[in-house]
Amino acid sequence: MAKAQTPHIAILPSPGMGHLIPLVEFAKRLVHQHSFNVTFFIPVDGSPSKAQKSTLGSLPSSIDSVFLPPVNLADLPGDLKIETVISLTVSRSLPDLRDAFKSLAAKTKLVGLVVDLFATDAFDVADEFGVSSYVFFPSTAMALSLFLYLPELDKTVSCEYRDMPEPVRIPGCIPVHGKELLDPAQDRQNDAYKWLLHHAKRYRLAQGIMVNSFMDLEGGPIKALQESKPPVYPVGPLVNVGSSHEPDGSGCMKWLDVQHVGSVLYVSFGSGGTLSMNQLNELAMGLEMSGQRFLWVIRCPNDSVANATFLNIDSQDDPFEFLPKGFIERTKHKGLVVSSWAPQAQVLSHGSTGGFLTHCGWNSTLESVVNGVPLIAWPLYAEQKMNALMLTEDVKIALRPKRNENGLICRDEIAKVVKGLMEGEEGKCIRTRMKELKEAAAQVLGENGSSTRALSEVADKFINQAMQPSRN
Ligand code: UDP
Repeated sequence: MAKAQTPHIAILPSPGMGHLIPLVEFAKRLVHQHSFNVTFFIPVDGSPSKAQKSTLGSLPSSIDSVFLPPVNLADLPGDLKIETVISLTVSRSLPDLRDAFKSLAAKTKLVGLVVDLFATDAFDVADEFGVSSYVFFPSTAMALSLFLYLPELDKTVSCEYRDMPEPVRIPGCIPVHGKELLDPAQDRQNDAYKWLLHHAKRYRLAQGIMVNSFMDLEGGPIKALQESKPPVYPVGPLVNVGSSHEPDGSGCMKWLDVQHVGSVLYVSFGSGGTLSMNQLNELAMGLEMSGQRFLWVIRCPNDSVANATFLNIDSQDDPFEFLPKGFIERTKHKGLVVSSWAPQAQVLSHGSTGGFLTHCGWNSTLESVVNGVPLIAWPLYAEQKMNALMLTEDVKIALRPKRNENGLICRDEIAKVVKGLMEGEEGKCIRTRMKELKEAAAQVLGENGSSTRALSEVADKFINQAMQPSRN
C-alpha cells in the first residue's frame, strides 16, 4: 500500500506584518500539533522588509516560504487607500501564485489554501487545483461579524454609514456609530470600500473561517458567528511570543531589566502607525508630565496619513529630530525612546512592563492580553476604532484618552490617562480584568482548551480532504 503523504497547506498572507505574524503562529500550531507541512506564498510589490525576512527566516523546516515575484503597481495613482493597494498586490500576483501552486501540488499532498482578510481572490487558483479554501481572520470576531453582515448593510443603507443617525447593529456586538466602523467603510464611493465588499461577499465561499479570538474575550460576536455559514473556528489568541535569542539592538530589554516591576508604560503604534507633528509633540509632553516611566517606539511624523509605514517599515529618516527640544535629556532617567521597531513580544512579557499605550492593532492587543498588561487605547487606522470601543466599553481592559474639537489628544489629557492607568483606581480595575483574561487565554490554548479543539476540528477537515482521491 502506498504510504500516505504528509498533508500540506498553502498560506497566502496579504501584505503587512500585522497580517503575516498571526498566520505564522497559526502555521506553527498546524505543524507542531498536527504534523502538517506548510508553504507560505508571499505577494510583494518590492523587496521584502527586514521584519518579514527575520520572521520567516526563523521557522521550523516543515514551514517553507516563497516570495512571489514583485508586482508592478507603477501605473496606479499615488493616493490609493491601503486596502486597494493590498488587494491589487494579491490579484496581480495570481499568475505567479498559479505557477507556484502547480509545482507544489505536483510534489505534495496539497489539502488546503488559507488566505487572510484581503486575499480571497486566491480562492480561484485553489479551485483550479481542487483544493479547499479557508480564511484566517487576523482581527476581532466583531470585525468578522461586520464583514459577513456588510453585504446586507450595503443593500439596506443608502447613505454613508458615518451619516446614519442610529448606530450600526453588527450581529452579536455592542452598537457602533458608523463613523467608528473600519476605515474602508468610511467612503462608499472609494475603491477601498468596493474591495472590502468584494472580499466580504467571497468569505461565504470559504470552507471555514478561523478567527484570532476566544469566547472569554468576545463571547457575543463569536456566538452570533457560530449561527451563520461558513463555520467559524475561534482559534486565538495566536500571538508572536518572540524569542530571547532576538538581538536587542535598541537596548530595550537591558533597559527594562533595571526598572521596577510593573513600572513602565510601553508606547507603540504597531507596524504602521504614524502621528502628526503636533500630536507627536503633545504625546512627548504628556508622557513627560505624567512622571511615569515609559518605553516609546517612535516614528517620523506624517501629517496626512496615520498608517504611513504599514507597507514600508524600513524608514531611512531619523525620528529623534522631531522630538521637542531637550526632551531626551529631561526624561533620560524616566524613559527610553527607540526608533521604528522594538521586540514587542519580549517587551510585553517583561516584568517591568505595567501598561501599554497602543493603536489597538489586534495583534498588539492580543499580545497584551496573553501577558496581562492593561491598555490605553489610541486607535489610528483600519478597524482600530472598533477595537478601541470594544476594549473600553465592552471588555473594559482599556482607558481611552479624549480628543479635543480639533481631533488632537492634548498633553494634559495624556498625562491624566497615563497616571490613571499606572497609579489610579481606574487602572486597578482594568489590571484585575486583564489578569482574568490572561488566565482564560492560557486555558483556551491548553491541551483541552476551546481554541486547541477548534484548531483540531479544522485539521480534521484538512485531513478528510487528504483522504479524498486526488483531483490535482
Ligand atoms: N511589532 C513589533 N515591534 C514593533 C511594532 C510592531 O514587534 O515595534 C509587531 C507586534 O508585536 C505585532 C505586529 O507587529 O505582532 C503589529 O500588529 P498589529 O495588529 O498590532 O498592528 P498593525 O501593525 O497590523 O497595525
